[in-house]
Amino acid sequence: MNISDYKGVLVFVEQRDNKIQRVSLELLGKARDIADKLNEKVTAVILGNNIKNNLEELIYHGADEVIYVDHQNLDIYITEPYTKALCEVINDKKPEIVLIGATAIGRDLAPRVSARIYTGLTADCTSLDIEEETRNLLMTRPAFGGNIMATIICPEHRPQMSTVRPGVMEIKERDTSRKGDIKEFFIDFTKEDINVEILEVVKETKEKVNIEEAKILVSGGRGIGKPENFALLKELAMLLDGQVSASRAVVDAGWIDKDHQVGQTGKTVRPNLYIACGISGAIQHLAGMEESEFIVAINKDSEAPIFEVADVGIVGDVNKVVPLLIEELKQYKL
Ligand code: FAD
Repeated sequence: MNISDYKGVLVFVEQRDNKIQRVSLELLGKARDIADKLNEKVTAVILGNNIKNNLEELIYHGADEVIYVDHQNLDIYITEPYTKALCEVINDKKPEIVLIGATAIGRDLAPRVSARIYTGLTADCTSLDIEEETRNLLMTRPAFGGNIMATIICPEHRPQMSTVRPGVMEIKERDTSRKGDIKEFFIDFTKEDINVEILEVVKETKEKVNIEEAKILVSGGRGIGKPENFALLKELAMLLDGQVSASRAVVDAGWIDKDHQVGQTGKTVRPNLYIACGISGAIQHLAGMEESEFIVAINKDSEAPIFEVADVGIVGDVNKVVPLLIEELKQYKL
C-alpha cells in the first residue's frame, strides 16, 4: 500500500427514511476542520433509494463533493449491500480518512468495511485531531471504563477509520454560499450481494425518545427518591418544551427506560440547558453532558461533584425545589 496515494476526508452520511441523520452533519463539521488542516477536500457519501433531493445540504454543512449511490437495494439498511457500496466508493476515491457515526447502523457497517478494505478502525471516538508532522489522525476514545482516554493511530494503513458518537461534535453553521460537486456512483449488484430479504419493517410503537436532539433536558438521578417523582420532572420539562433524561443509577433501577440515559454508556448530549436533579455527577455521567451550554444542578449535598460543572447550583431537596420552579414557570406561561 502506498500511503501517499490516499487523500482527503470521506464522511459516510446516514439517512433513514431519506432523512439525513444529525450525526452526519456533526461529522461533516469535524471533517471540514480536519481537511483544512491537511489542505484536502471533504467528500460526503450517501447511499439509499431516491435520495437525489437536498444533497446540497451536505455541501452547506462542510462537504466539497457529494457522491451518492441511488439503488433500490439500498432502500433500507442491510449490511451486505451497504458494505459493498461503501467499499467500492472508498476503493475508487482512496480517502486518507473515513468517518462514520457510531449509531446502530454505523456500528454494524464500519467494522465490515474496515475488514474488507484491510485497515483498522477506532470505534466510538470522542475527539479527533491531526498530528501535524505525520498527518496521522489522532483518534481519542475512553478506555478502561472511562478511567483513561486512549489516543489511537493507524500509521501503516489507509484509510484511517473511525466511528464517532452522536452528539460529540458540533454542527457547523449552515452556509448556503458554499459550492461543490454532486456526483452519482454506480454499483453492479449481483444476487449474491442480496443475502437478506426484508419482509416487513415494524417500527417501535413506544414513544420515541431522542434526548440527543433536545435543546432542554431535565435529568433525574437517584436523589429524586422514587420512580413516581419523574412525573414532576416531566412537568418541568413540558413547561420548558424540553425532555426528560436520566442517570444510569435510575435506568439500572428500572425507574426509566435506557433511551433516556446520559453518560459514557448512555447518550452524549449538549443541550442549551441541562437541569440535573438529584444527580451526584459521577465521571461517567459528566462524560455525557458536561459540554451542555448551561448547567443547573439541584442536589442536597453541597459537596456533590455535579456542582463543579454547574453554572448555577441549588443546594436543597429536589422534590421541594422542582415544584417551586414549576410554580414560578407557570406564572410566566400565563
Ligand atoms: P448517586 O450517585 O447515588 O447520586 C444521588 C445524588 O442525589 C447524590 O449526590 C445525593 O446527594 C443526591 N440526593 C439524594 N437525595 C436528594 C434530594 N432529596 N434532593 C436533592 N439531592 C438529593 N452513570 C451515568 O449516569 N451514565 C452512564 O452512562 C454511566 N456509565 C457507567 C459506566 C461504567 C463503566 C461505570 C463503572 C459506571 C457508569 N455510570 C454511569 C455510573 C456512575 O458511576 C454513577 O454510579 C451514577 O451516575 C450515579 O447516578 P446518580 O447520580 O443518579 O446516583
